[in-house]
Amino acid sequence: MYSIKEVKQIINAHGPIIREATVSVLITDSRRIINPAEALFFALSGRRDGHDFIPEAYNAGVRSFVVEREPAERYSGSNFLVVENVLAALQTLAAYHRGEFDLQVIGITGSNGKTIIKEWLYQLLAADKNIVRNPKSYNSQVGVPLSVWQINKEHDLGIFEAGISTVNEMDALEKMIEPQIGIFTHIGSAHDEGFASRREKVLEKLKLFKHSEILIYNYDQFIDYKKDILTPKKFTWSQKFKEVDLYVFSETIIAKKFYLRAKYKGQEIECLIPFLDQASIENAIVCWATMLAMGYDPVEVDNRLEHLTAVSMRLELKTGINDCTIIDDSYNSDIQSLEIALNFLNQQNQHQTKTLILSDIFQSGLQQNELYKRVAALVKNHKIDKLIGVGEGISAHQEYFDILKKHFYPDTQSLLKQLDSLEFSGETILIKGSRTFEFERISKALSQKAHETLMEINLNAMIDNLNFYRSKLLPGVKVMVMVKAFSYGSGTFEIANVLQYARVDYLAVAYIDEGVALRDSGITLPIMVLNPEASAFDKMVAHDLEPELFSFNQLDEFVKFAYQNNLSDYPVHLKIDTGMHRLGFEGFEIETLCDFLEEIKYIKVKSVFSHLAASGSPEHDAFTLTQMKRFEKAYLQIEEALGYKFIRHISNTSAIIRWPMAQYDMVRLGIGLYGIDAAVPDHLNGLQSIATLKTSVSQVKKIPAGETIGYERLGKLNKDGKIATVRIGYADGYLRAFGNGVGKMLVKGTWVPTVGNIAMDMCMIDVSDVDIKEGDDVIVFNDRQAIEAMAKQIGTIPYEILTNISQRVKRVYFYE
Ligand SMILES: *Cc1c(COP(=O)(O)O)cnc(C)c1O
Repeated sequence: MYSIKEVKQIINAHGPIIREATVSVLITDSRRIINPAEALFFALSGRRDGHDFIPEAYNAGVRSFVVEREPAERYSGSNFLVVENVLAALQTLAAYHRGEFDLQVIGITGSNGKTIIKEWLYQLLAADKNIVRNPKSYNSQVGVPLSVWQINKEHDLGIFEAGISTVNEMDALEKMIEPQIGIFTHIGSAHDEGFASRREKVLEKLKLFKHSEILIYNYDQFIDYKKDILTPKKFTWSQKFKEVDLYVFSETIIAKKFYLRAKYKGQEIECLIPFLDQASIENAIVCWATMLAMGYDPVEVDNRLEHLTAVSMRLELKTGINDCTIIDDSYNSDIQSLEIALNFLNQQNQHQTKTLILSDIFQSGLQQNELYKRVAALVKNHKIDKLIGVGEGISAHQEYFDILKKHFYPDTQSLLKQLDSLEFSGETILIKGSRTFEFERISKALSQKAHETLMEINLNAMIDNLNFYRSKLLPGVKVMVMVKAFSYGSGTFEIANVLQYARVDYLAVAYIDEGVALRDSGITLPIMVLNPEASAFDKMVAHDLEPELFSFNQLDEFVKFAYQNNLSDYPVHLKIDTGMHRLGFEGFEIETLCDFLEEIKYIKVKSVFSHLAASGSPEHDAFTLTQMKRFEKAYLQIEEALGYKFIRHISNTSAIIRWPMAQYDMVRLGIGLYGIDAAVPDHLNGLQSIATLKTSVSQVKKIPAGETIGYERLGKLNKDGKIATVRIGYADGYLRAFGNGVGKMLVKGTWVPTVGNIAMDMCMIDVSDVDIKEGDDVIVFNDRQAIEAMAKQIGTIPYEILTNISQRVKRVYFYE
């Protein structure tokens, strides 16, 4: 903890100190403010200027700010520390903090495996060290300072990962991490585009170790960099070369574990690793090498490696029993990831009641009193309504929790016994536990049984896609996200709540009921309704939904309604038909429209818009230009008649990048959010697929050549083989057109064709050449290419594939 005066000195800021304050929390996101009395807000400029969020932070109680310019408004009683560069100030403060402690630090960089290795070393070393580490993969220019800031005097080991994407980024991270022990994980292609060459990338990453005493790395990968590795000591490992510190010469599988043997200091040593994939083996060898380099006894290392467990950074959002929503984060628990999970809980507004099921937290580096005081503050800050504490530690400190509904249990079993009596209903429940508490049992008991076909939605990838498009917008252009049709099949309030948190400007739905459902789930963003039905205008207005008006009939009806209901200045959106010929006022109608609008006071034109018929197709570019010209003519006429400005918009996804001049004041993002945009050339394509549709095998059968398979006896194998019956059919949205070899599914890394007709609830695939058994997963699609390929196979477009997935297919959302 520092006084605000000390901080000012450390970061070399000017500006008067108006109030004395202690600084214990660094805030870089105004949506995530905890302990405001001791918080220091850094107005970082990213996609949005952090200075814009000063009012929000101030309203949340923050009174100390680091800024590049003093705000024009007055914020009474606040300290504004003015610096040249806010990010540099944050990093300077973190580097200073790091310098105050002489703990041992492991620094990790490389293209892959950083987070897994960090988490595994934590699992391996937690028995005898008090460890501080990055939460999740907070390894960026902002993530590292926030991670390092957690160091306190109880810690004797830090494990920090550093991630960079271009040149001249590592020096700042090195100053904050200052590792004595370095680990270079693996060089791969990630972020190659940020560097002139692979060599440039490696040299930049090596800067993390410029003051380290020892570097641990895979000898094979660094043969060309011998002269560039300057640490006094090196610890090398290899599966090919003998002349290394740890030569792993044999790997065999014993009882579903990898059994590795190696030469180390002239002796043969061994270990068992409870994983079977190559990436895990490599990561485990790195951990093995690191522990040996740290002086651990090989037998002890073997004992610990055998107990490694999978690292899950995932937090899953799923449907629970009794109309509850479950957020499942049952695999690890520490203060930082608790804060992240609570924050995610607060993004989801569909239920009034927010419940937290929390186990003891281990390895916090804090005294129990201090630990649970902080946990209690987090719980209070995040306005949790109901707390269920499990474990002796948390139970012993229950008086700290200032909350009406609280229950404590000594262990998971006791909670499970009482689960029914807790009567969960209509609430959002966050399940957060240390691994040993096996909270997955609670999660299972509270979740709805999933039909084994499910669609997983990656929320991080969705936000990355949103930000990809934001990065392509001209300054000031707003974003409306189209969440019609169950957000293109991917979900309603789950998606909308995340978008609201990500601060999009507008949402649009097709029908009034869709909008009402969003309002009922806590969505406060403005919502446009594309096709509002007159019979539900009252519902629309009661829920603050804004109609699209596209014809005189409909305009008349709404105005009549507005008059009868005493509305004034009700926001509406005028749709102009510029060539799509679907909905909208046509060019010749605009004059009459203007005459009409000039007379009316009940409505206010919030926006004027049109829709492009073929914005992604070069062969129609001339037509797209014509549409824009017609649009411009129309909105200018309307603007003149009304005498005020409104938002103008015409771009759908495929226009955003191809037609920057068509962005006007706002774009309407649709399918791009879900990772699909045929108009983006592959080399510019920063989009990620967000959906995986998975099913599973109910039965496997041997089928002799010539036997027929399925309805109408259309399926046949050419030679003796095997089929698997999987749990998806046309009622799930896997259309009948995919039958008889047209559709393919991914089974253990191989695409295999369907055999015979698709049935209502299931279908058959040819698995003659794959090793598969009942219960195994089968992937129907998992990325953009797969969705696009599927669409092609049956002569349709990705939109139809996505929106066809039926509601009975469970959606599970995850966030890492
Ligand atoms: C659906 C829709 C969009 C979004 O289209 P995408 O091609 O998915 O980006 C935009 N505007 C209107 C009026 C729409 O109906």
